Amino acid sequence: MKTFEYDSPETLEETFSLLGPDGEGATRPLAGGTDLLTLMKADIVSPDRLVNLKRLGELPSGIKETGDGVTLGALTTLTEIERSPLLRRRCPALTEAASLAATPQLRNMATIGGNLLQRPRCWYYRNSLFHCWLKGGDDCPACDGQNQYHALFGGGPCYAVHPSDLAPALLALDAEVILKSRNGERRVSLSEFFALPEEGRRTETTIREGELVTALRIPPHPEGTRSTYLKAMDRKVWAFALVGVAAAVRLEGKRIEEVRLVLNGVAPVPWRVREAEGELIGSEVGGELFTHVSETALKGARPLEHNAYKIPLLKTLIRRALETLTETEVPSG
Ligand SMILES: Cc1cc2nc3c(=O)[nH]c(=O)nc-3n(C[C@H](O)[C@H](O)[C@H](O)COP(=O)(O)OP(=O)(O)OC[C@H]3O[C@@H](n4cnc5c(N)ncnc54)[C@H](O)[C@@H]3O)c2cc1C
Ligand code: SF4
Repeated sequence: MKTFEYDSPETLEETFSLLGPDGEGATRPLAGGTDLLTLMKADIVSPDRLVNLKRLGELPSGIKETGDGVTLGALTTLTEIERSPLLRRRCPALTEAASLAATPQLRNMATIGGNLLQRPRCWYYRNSLFHCWLKGGDDCPACDGQNQYHALFGGGPCYAVHPSDLAPALLALDAEVILKSRNGERRVSLSEFFALPEEGRRTETTIREGELVTALRIPPHPEGTRSTYLKAMDRKVWAFALVGVAAAVRLEGKRIEEVRLVLNGVAPVPWRVREAEGELIGSEVGGELFTHVSETALKGARPLEHNAYKIPLLKTLIRRALETLTETEVPSG
C-alpha cells in the first residue's frame, strides 16, 4: 500500500480546506474505513491523504424525527439503523436492509454515508491486475468473462452491480441526500445522487470533488405506508445481494394508492421499475396482479452469459415483497 498522510480535523471548515481543490481526488474522506481501507490495501485506490470524519462534531449525528421526516447523520452506523425503534416503525425497509448487510462487526463500523459511496464488488474491479474500464481502462473483462454477479439493466460500458442494500431501501422511501462543500449546501434526491457511470464520470454517484455527505432525509409518509426489503444471497451471512427488492406501498382498502419498487443487484445503480409501479397504482390487490407486475419489472432485462438466473429469482422476490406488504388490509385514511 502507498504511504499516506492522515488528518483528523474537528471543524468542517478545516475539513473542506483539506478536501478542497488542492486535494484533487488525492485526498479522501475516511468514515468507518470498511471499504476505503480494503481498496487501499489492494492498491485499487491510492490517496495521498486521508481525512478522518469521525471527530467532526459539526457533522449531524444520529437518527432524528422532525415534521420534515426522519434525518440520519452521515456517520450513523448500520448497527444504529438496524436497532432504531423509530426506523423500525417508520421505515422497516431500511432496518431490514441494514440487518441483512455484512456482519455485526462490520455494521458497528460501517456508516450510512460510506455505505452509499462504497465501490462495486466486481472481482475484476477489486483485482489490481485488471485495469478495467471503471478504473480508467479501455474495456470491461466482465462483459464476456465471469459475469454471474453482474448487471441485467443499465450495463455498458460497466456491468458491475450496485453493492449497497440500504440504497434501494432509501430510494423506495424517497430519501434525499444532503451534501456540503466550501460552496454551501445542496440537496439531491437519491435518484439524482446515483447515476450510471459514463465516459466523463467513472463512478456511480454524482457527488462532487470536495463535497461531503452530511445527512440523509426520509420524508414523512402518509399513515399506513408499509415497506420491506428482501435479499437473496448465496450463503446466509455477510454475502452481498445476488438480487434484492425494496418496496414501499400504501393501500386504501384493497386498492394500491402509492408504490415505489426498486431492484438491487441488477444494475450499476439501484434500479427503480416505474412501468411496474404504474401497473400497480390504482389496481386492486388479488388475482394475477403481482405475477404480471413481476413480468413487467423484468421485461427489459438483458442477461449476460452467466447471470440469467437472476430473472426468476427477482420475479419471486417481487411477488413475495408485494404479497407481504398487502397481506392484511390497512385501514384507509
Ligand atoms: C466483508 C464485507 C461484507 C459486506 N457486505 C455488505 C452487504 O451485504 N451489504 C451492504 O450494503 N454492504 C456490505 N458491505 C459494505 C459495507 O457496508 C461498506 O463497506 C460500508 O457501509 C462503508 O461505510 P464506511 O463508513 O466504512 O465507509 P468508508 O470505507 O470509510 O468510505 C467509503 C467511501 O465513502 C467515502 N465517504 C465515506 N463517508 C463519506 C461522507 N460522509 N462524505 C463523503 N464521502 C464519504 C470515502 O471517502 C470512501 O470513498 C460489506 C463490506 C465487507 C468488507
Ligand atoms: S463490470 Fe465494471 S467494474 Fe467490472 S470489469 Fe467491467 S468495467 Fe470493471
